Amino acid sequence: MKFINTRNPNDTATFREAVLRGMAPGGGLWMPESLPVFEDWDSLLQLRWVERSEIILRRFIGVEFDQDALAAAISSALDFPIPLTQIRRGLYALELFHGPTLAFKDVGARFFAHILDLVREPGLPLTILTATSGDTGAAVAQAFWHRPAARVVVLYPKGRVSDLQERQFATLGDNVAALAVEGSFDDCQALVKECFDDAALSAKHGLTSANSINVARLLPQMLYYTEAVAQLHKQDVREGIVMAVPSGNFGNICAGLMAKQTGLPIRAFVAATNANATVPRYLDSGDYLPQPSIATISNAMDVGAPNNWERIQHLFGGDLYSLRQALRWGFKNDADTKRSIRELMGMGYLADPHAAVAYAVLEERLGLSETGVFLGTAHPAKFLPVYEPMGIQVPVPDSLESLRDRPLLSKDIPNNVAAVRQALENS
Ligand SMILES: *Cc1c(COP(=O)(O)O)cnc(C)c1O
Repeated sequence: MKFINTRNPNDTATFREAVLRGMAPGGGLWMPESLPVFEDWDSLLQLRWVERSEIILRRFIGVEFDQDALAAAISSALDFPIPLTQIRRGLYALELFHGPTLAFKDVGARFFAHILDLVREPGLPLTILTATSGDTGAAVAQAFWHRPAARVVVLYPKGRVSDLQERQFATLGDNVAALAVEGSFDDCQALVKECFDDAALSAKHGLTSANSINVARLLPQMLYYTEAVAQLHKQDVREGIVMAVPSGNFGNICAGLMAKQTGLPIRAFVAATNANATVPRYLDSGDYLPQPSIATISNAMDVGAPNNWERIQHLFGGDLYSLRQALRWGFKNDADTKRSIRELMGMGYLADPHAAVAYAVLEERLGLSETGVFLGTAHPAKFLPVYEPMGIQVPVPDSLESLRDRPLLSKDIPNNVAAVRQALENS
């Protein structure tokens, strides 16, 4: 399958090229040139998770790889369960937080790390340079840790990520370096951009980005939507499935919409945001007005200018009418989010703040005879400061608890590109 530039349909790339280039020329994003419609969903949905995932990804990118190597990469990347938990009749949570860093970003980051062994130029250096405000750095750093294909350099704003988040990427060592920048997350992103813009530096270290615009993170995110539908089919739920996705950069829901276009039987998607409601407001009004981001308790969705929205526009040919047919939407503030956390607790389910936003919008948008699934994108233990003032005890999984005693290996650097350059030379 070919990939095309959202800003120039004449500009195409193989999957391998698209992964290594990250962004497409002119600021565009790579998308599959056209999405195949699969006629065999009934039998695909009867397969087991990893086997089904292999078959689907092979149809997208199989021609570029040795089949056994691709299968091995997929099965080791997707080696954790994706449970669908029933909350009440007609309502389920798809739990995407059973991977190593307890957030759905593990799916994309682990696939990216394993596929990179297959797409990279042998013998050339490769450095994943990434700025993080929390979850992305953790998922990417752990996905690449101890993998000889690449080293990872994570930039983060010193003192501005939570203690446990910091420990998820700054205690690893080996091929993972963490740089604590005297500045904000925006400063970190600007430093990363400066490094990529320096062609000589970029070539010397083989700088590659692992943010959510990389197609290697996008494609595998289609897979867990198939798993949700497969588990519902086992329970004889086949009609009227509606999926609610807590959205920030809109990469997750973009992958879901792609899966639907291949014929996966999902009736509709619900795009749920927090107060950063650029997309819901656009769907209401027809005016797309990106905003500076606002801080909320569902902080992984604090995005005012979602960088994958362009992909969704591309998927629908920029047609607002068909977007409004495929999507339902809404947004919730922090007070609503907390109310939803308590409401779900009343039904015996502890949701993270992002999942709670999705649940809240889903409840408003779900028809009576429909079955709703909201995505649990992170484990609640990643957000203890949200629950403490609410008086809610959150059990902390051992994998997170054990990080508390690990020493931080990060290096403090000033907020300038010379310091990053030096760290790239020395780490
Ligand atoms: C990244 C993230 C999101 C938002 O996902 P997008 O693909 O950016 O829309 C939602 N919840 C959690 C916990 C996240 O880490």
